[in-house]
Amino acid sequence: MTTTETSADTRRHPRRAFRLTSRVFWDMAIYMVALGLVMGLIFPPFVVLLGVPETFAYRSIFRLACLLAGFSVGAMNYALVKGVVGGRMEVLGGHLRSATESITSATRTGDWSAALFERITVDSHDQIGEAGSAFNSLLGAVEGRKELEERLRYQAFHDQLTGLPNRAYMIDKIAEAEQLRHEGMPSAVLFLDVDNLKAVNDSLGHDGGDTLIKLLSERMVGCVRDTDTVARLSGDEFAILLIGPGSEHQAERVALRLINSLRAPTKIGEHLVRTGFSIGLATSATCASSGIGMLRAADLAMYAAKSGGKGRLEVFQPSHHTAHVERDAVRGELSGALDAEQLELHYQPIVDVCSRQVVGFEALLRWRHPERGLISPLEFIPLAEETGLIVPIGRWVLQEATRQAAEWQNRSPRGRLRMSVNVSVRQFQHPDLVGDVAEALQRSGLDASLLTVEITESLFAQDTEETVRKIRLLKDLGVRLALDDFGTGYSSLSYLRRFPIDTLKIDKSFIDGVTTSAEGHAVVAAITQLGQSLHLEVVAEGLETAEQVEALASLECPLGQGYHFSRPLVAGDAVKLLLTGGRFSSEMLVPA
Ligand SMILES: [Mg+2]
Repeated sequence: MTTTETSADTRRHPRRAFRLTSRVFWDMAIYMVALGLVMGLIFPPFVVLLGVPETFAYRSIFRLACLLAGFSVGAMNYALVKGVVGGRMEVLGGHLRSATESITSATRTGDWSAALFERITVDSHDQIGEAGSAFNSLLGAVEGRKELEERLRYQAFHDQLTGLPNRAYMIDKIAEAEQLRHEGMPSAVLFLDVDNLKAVNDSLGHDGGDTLIKLLSERMVGCVRDTDTVARLSGDEFAILLIGPGSEHQAERVALRLINSLRAPTKIGEHLVRTGFSIGLATSATCASSGIGMLRAADLAMYAAKSGGKGRLEVFQPSHHTAHVERDAVRGELSGALDAEQLELHYQPIVDVCSRQVVGFEALLRWRHPERGLISPLEFIPLAEETGLIVPIGRWVLQEATRQAAEWQNRSPRGRLRMSVNVSVRQFQHPDLVGDVAEALQRSGLDASLLTVEITESLFAQDTEETVRKIRLLKDLGVRLALDDFGTGYSSLSYLRRFPIDTLKIDKSFIDGVTTSAEGHAVVAAITQLGQSLHLEVVAEGLETAEQVEALASLECPLGQGYHFSRPLVAGDAVKLLLTGGRFSSEMLVPA
């Protein structure tokens, strides 16, 4: 009940309040008059009985004295009761008043943490003691409410898993810090993102992922000062706020400490898990001058750190924002690119290293932007993956590549021409993939054995039942499976035996080393032999020099592709190549 309600009640029942006071007055007045009368009537006959002469006892002056004595005793009694009972009532009233004030202000602000309720010590079993007990039980009820409000408040501002403050709390804190900045107090925000939480969830289950997050958050708290705030913003995102002089340099030191601490592997059950972190740092000074909120700026810097190779710290610069705006624009345009027929496929020949004959093509996606020209897939494929556009785009690639392959399949001088199509992890995980491949084959009429689906090793890092099932379904369609960029991803080779893979494509980074060092040569030799012993076809990617081709030929690597033979060709040029017999003469070895 609030004060306003109390006074409203009083206004509504003014007579009741008057009666309570007047009743005490009249009760006491009647009591005193009655006591005086009793003394005046009873005392004269009583003193006569004790032997006082009647003439004296019945004199008016004696009677008056008795009457006054009765009044005086009554008055003293009144004063005594008022002193003793009133004192106790004052204690009760004081407690009631402070409890009312606490409840009123807590109800108004919604913050019950500061509300103080002191119970009364009940040391008598009379009516006042009972009133005290009633007051105490009222406080018990209010405290229950206080606890509930506190719990709800805590839940609203904390992450349940880690117990750390959450995004809402952090946003409030940063807003306060940005206010303090106007008063000359600097601050800094670190934005952290776990690079591979999804893979951990996939391989160790969500409980494993939760344990990892808890352990990592403990390490984070260990890397900062008591005055800094660590918050979990969402599944794999954290933020740290530092306020105070020097916080900008301090934040950089904290970030480096974090990178070192979080790099150490975490033990979860039987497994040792390594996690990477990308960290963005934004300082109040840079943000104030560029007009971007600190959390947003730190987030943009984190994104830059992530796209720049992960596991790094990036300090926010206004250019990050410009890059983001551009990326947003590209993302917007990309969704229309497919309908506007701006996407096209280029075909890079896959060549028999010994005979130099074309055995097939790898279809590579390009975006011919009306203003920006040809946009590299490195720039737009990550955006297509991020937005899910990779699924319709990938479907189009499958259809176009199979259509083209069906048209060319009998033009190869060496028999039938193969076509390779890249499928990204995100596209592979989409439920429509197998259906899309089947449809593309059916529509084009291409013999399934001429289609090679290129997947990457990162698919095996998420070794789920679903991956196994889909790979088998694809094999059931009759298509070939190639492992692209071999050697750059997942570290375990056990999947080579477990999955029905037909082709290994050795990544360009290995081929680059084949002629420059003995170790580089040994690595490529080992991969080629591994392929041979597992009866896999091996394709060397990124062949750029004649020496590399020679080296691969001497290692008995059957197939290769790269600028040494040809860059990816538009369909018309690919046809011309096929018309020349699909053989690269030495004059043709210069890249176009
Ligand atoms: Mg490829």
